[in-house]
Amino acid sequence: MRKFTERRLLVATHNAGKLAEMRALLAPYGVEVAGAAEAGLAEPVETEDNFIGNARIKARAAMEATGLPVLADDSGICVDALGGAPGVYTADWAETGQGRDFGMAMERTWRALEDACAPAPRLAQFRCTLVLMWPDGHDEVFEGVLPGQIVWPPRGAEGHGYDPIFQPEGHQLTLGEMTAEMKNSLSHRALAVARMIEAAFA
Ligand code: IMP
Repeated sequence: MRKFTERRLLVATHNAGKLAEMRALLAPYGVEVAGAAEAGLAEPVETEDNFIGNARIKARAAMEATGLPVLADDSGICVDALGGAPGVYTADWAETGQGRDFGMAMERTWRALEDACAPAPRLAQFRCTLVLMWPDGHDEVFEGVLPGQIVWPPRGAEGHGYDPIFQPEGHQLTLGEMTAEMKNSLSHRALAVARMIEAAFA
């Protein structure tokens, strides 16, 4: 396992919610975090059918464009009764042609569960795969999984994406009802980052 000794890290995401979470999670380690949008990077097309493949596409594109070490995240929500969908297509379910509409994506998820007559609890997991890539192309992969269930109607205006319909196991609040601190103490992304920090930063 290679150690991360650089001072700057480019987080290869255009998602402001993910970037804010990464900044907060990495803040204690004195790493200067830049985002892909501020670095003027285009969003690469995610052509793989798995989280690791897509995270690698994002990491490599950002690393080759900047020469910086890069952290890329590919994540999504996998619903058991939908055979793991939307999974790697989580963001695509929100696509309208004029930007992303997560209200629509959450409703689509709920309707698919209703159509499948899925019994409660409607188990699901948020998954996060991180690829930490160095300028020489070496990478290390870290994963985090947050189990829980899909609830309806959506609850809470915190967080981003599908947070309002996801209630983590052992909690009464949805991710959308949790403060950023609370979400960052238990989320799939926090788990993956904790694994990365233990292995590469500590
Ligand atoms: P991608 O990793 O950029 O392909 O997008 C993954 C999608 O999964 C995001 O656009 C969000 O909709 C969703 N997602 C990933 N992590 C979270 C989270 O922590 N909360 C809510 N939605 C998330």
